[in-house]
This record gives sequence, C-alpha cells and structure tokens, in this order.
Amino acid sequence: MHKKHQNIEHAMGFDSACIHSGFEQDQYRSHVTGIYPSSTYLFDSAEQAVEIFTGKQEGYIYGRFGNPTIRQTEAKIAALETYGLVDESGNPLQAKAILHASGMAAISSLLLSTVKQGQKVISHFSLYGGTQELVDKVLPDVGIETLIVDMKNLQAVEDAFKQHDDIALMYLETPANPTLQCVDIELLTQIAHRYHCKVAVDNTFATPYLQQPFKYGVDFIMHSTTKFLNGHGTAIGGVLIGRDIELMNTKVTKHHRLLGGNSNAFDAFLLNNGIKTLGIRMERHCSNAEKVALFLHAHPAVKHVNYLALPDHPDYAICKKQMKHAGALLSFEVHGGFEAGKKFMNALQLCSRAVSLGTCDTLISHPASTTHVGVKPEMRLQSGITDGLIRMSVGIENGEDIMYDVNQALSN
Ligand SMILES: *Cc1c(COP(=O)(O)O)cnc(C)c1O
Repeated sequence: MHKKHQNIEHAMGFDSACIHSGFEQDQYRSHVTGIYPSSTYLFDSAEQAVEIFTGKQEGYIYGRFGNPTIRQTEAKIAALETYGLVDESGNPLQAKAILHASGMAAISSLLLSTVKQGQKVISHFSLYGGTQELVDKVLPDVGIETLIVDMKNLQAVEDAFKQHDDIALMYLETPANPTLQCVDIELLTQIAHRYHCKVAVDNTFATPYLQQPFKYGVDFIMHSTTKFLNGHGTAIGGVLIGRDIELMNTKVTKHHRLLGGNSNAFDAFLLNNGIKTLGIRMERHCSNAEKVALFLHAHPAVKHVNYLALPDHPDYAICKKQMKHAGALLSFEVHGGFEAGKKFMNALQLCSRAVSLGTCDTLISHPASTTHVGVKPEMRLQSGITDGLIRMSVGIENGEDIMYDVNQALSN
C-alpha cells in the first residue's frame, strides 16, 4: 500500500500532519481512510498464514488485533505526538500508538503491561475520577500499590523513590481532570529516570497540539480520544503511545490483545476524521476559553475562576513552560454554593449540560455530583473540587454567544 507523504511527515506543518499523516491509499483509490469492519482476514495460502502469524509479512489476521482503519488512525496519532521531535541520534522520533476501546482501556493496558504484582505506581493526588478509582479499587486486588505524592514537591518525590525501590511507573496527568493542576513533566521525568522508573503522561486535556510529553523523554503517553482528538463527541476511545517500539510491539501488544479492549473500525474512522481539524479547533477552544475566563473573573456573581492562563493560577508558570496555550477547560465557583450552582446549571440555554469535554459545543458540568461522585470527599476537597464548583469545557461556538449564555444564567 502507498503511504502518502511518508518521507515528509516531519517537514509538514502540524495542521498538515493532522490531515495527511497516517493515510494509506487503498486499492480503490479511496480519498479518505475507509471503514474496514471485517472481523477476520483471508490468507492466500497456508504458507502466507505462517508468514503473517510469525510477523515475517505484514498483514491483518483478526479484528481484535487491528484493521486498516485503526492502523491509519494509530499512525496519525503517533505522528502528532512525535511531531518535530528527534531521538538521541538526531533522527525523527518514532513511536507506536495502539488504539483502545476507551481511555480507561488504554490506561489498563498501560498499567498491567508495565507494573507487576509487588511493584508500585507513583502518582499525584489530582487524577481523573476513573483513574483514581482504578488505582484505589482494582490495582490493589492484583497486588499493585499506588503511592500518592504531591508531585509539585520534588523533594517528596525524590524521598518516595529513596524509600521504595519497587516503583515501576510514574503516572502523570497534566493538566489534571477536573482541577487543572499541572505538574512539571521535565523535572519529574528526570527524577523517575534516575531511579529506572518509566513515566507515563495522560495528555488528554492538552492534546499534542498544546503539549508534547515526548519532548521531555517520557516513555508513554495516553489519551482519552473521546475528548479533543475525536472532538465531536461521537465515539468513546483511547490510545496508548510508546517510544519503545520493541516493548509496544511485544508486551504491550500482548496485553492489549488479551485484555480485549480493542477499538473498532467505525469509531476509528470518526476519530481519524476528527483529528484532521485538531489544530484549528484547539486554537479556537483556547481563545474562547481565555475570553470566558476573563469575563467570569470580572463577574460579581463569581467567587473564583480556575484557568491556567490567569496569572493568579498556582500553575501558571508550569503551564507556560510546557503548553502552547492554556487549554479549553476552566472551572469557577459561584457565590451561594451548591444551590446557586444548581440554579446556574438550570438556567443555561445554549451551553450543554453534560459531563465529558472536548466537543465543539460548550459542555458544563458539576463534578461533585457527577464525575467525582465515587471519590472520597476528603480526596475531592484536597484537589479543590468543592460542592459549588462548575466545570466548563469551552467549545468553538462564537465566543460572544457563550458569554451571553453564561451571563444570563448567572443573572438569573
Ligand atoms: C475521560 C478521561 C479519561 C477516561 O477516558 P474514557 O474514554 O472515558 O475511558 C482518562 N483521563 C482523562 C484526563 C479523561 O478526561
């Protein structure tokens, strides 16, 4: 098959890479990546089956292991996460992406393929609710303990490594969902690598357009592709990307296939098309979010605004260091706590009342009663999720329309 622009991927602009990278022309000269829902694939001969099964010849075998729609989408994401980066020898950085059924499936493959019974994970106290529950409720049953450390305190991280010689994975989420706390990927990766510990970053909130963790030498990146990469709220999905291609092709692939969290052709197709506009969507998401944050900051009904581009945000400097813009997510607290928050939610007319994030429309939710309902209240409060907190994923509508709706709901 013909790989379009294979040799100029790293010379293209990022937006061009969003559109063109990963594409393989099929024998019908289809202009977009097709949907290949076939559950199994034909062999010309018994000999060819052997060649494909042993990896001597490239080819598809069975839908759980992948298909052309999935493969092209994986190649596109790997190209974006490595965009413009070089390896230790100065060659374009290579990475391998594996698409999953969901962000949680990608995290499960990551954790179970890199951490063994008796080993530990080290992480920050502000994590996506599902990830927090996974490390609290599922990993201990298979003998994996998670050390929760304040990752902004580098000495505390160093001390944890000195105390525990069995930490196999550092798991970072920056900015974190929904608190927006950021941690310093570069400095934390340096510490972890000194102790021969691998580092993974959940890059869902930033996307490779705003932040490229591979730039700081991390080993793995994962995304809930459900969010900004898909961008339109049309499919649940996840991706795990690794720099160690050998490890990705062996152990991680084994876990992905056997745990069964595979993606499918239709969701991969939607994701592939969504990613084509990633760069321009993120620009608009971020400029709208900045306008809305400033507007809320000046609004008398609002007690506090949590947005990374506001200089009073505690992680303003870390965000500036490692992100191109401050992202599309913000949260704010209305005067009047839970009841005022409920009134605000009920008065919205344009913005959508929904959990999740990263879609074209503005999504507004109330974490304490939704995404974080399973997280212990003290853990919630420690990461700043008060009962009256409202979270916004600012969409790509006209910014004026978002502000009009928020203003009328606050004045209601
Ligand atoms: C949504 C989300 C996840 C989980 O992804 P799913 O696709 O819902 O399984 C993980 N991490 C972050 C930061 C998220 O926002």
